[in-house]
Amino acid sequence: MTRTILQRAVDWGRRNSPWIIRFHSGSCCGCDAELQAALSSRYDLERWGVAEQGSPRQADILICTGAVTVQEKGRLRQIYEQMLEPKFVLAVGSCACSGGALSDCYAVAGGVDSTIPVDVYLPGCAARPEAIIDAVRELLANWEKAQKYADTVEE
Ligand code: SF4
Repeated sequence: MTRTILQRAVDWGRRNSPWIIRFHSGSCCGCDAELQAALSSRYDLERWGVAEQGSPRQADILICTGAVTVQEKGRLRQIYEQMLEPKFVLAVGSCACSGGALSDCYAVAGGVDSTIPVDVYLPGCAARPEAIIDAVRELLANWEKAQKYADTVEE
């Protein structure tokens, strides 16, 4: 179905002021500290219109840190299911990408993609704030490309 001008305007607005929500599914907090730094005034992820808020129902991007523990698996799925389409997931750090150093632990289910689909993987232990900013920008660029491609196919 071809997007209307109003829908294109809404999509443009969402892409240029995406709201993010964070989920810590079992990390050592190293990646969380780097993510906090990326959101701070020093690195200022907000320059790209990114705003953090607390409800998955209003979030466009879910940023996950840490390996997914068995205990957190259901909560992570529930948060993802509450988000509206289109929705995106960024896995920050080696633990979130694959389970990392914790992958053999009895209480770990695996990386984030063991539970929900992941759009962008950012390895690193810990992932640096500059890399987190690049990953968010890559995700937004992919979002724009996907919408342009869908418009081209529909026309
Ligand atoms: S990738 Fe490293 S810093 Fe990040 S949660 Fe895992 S162990 Fe901690």
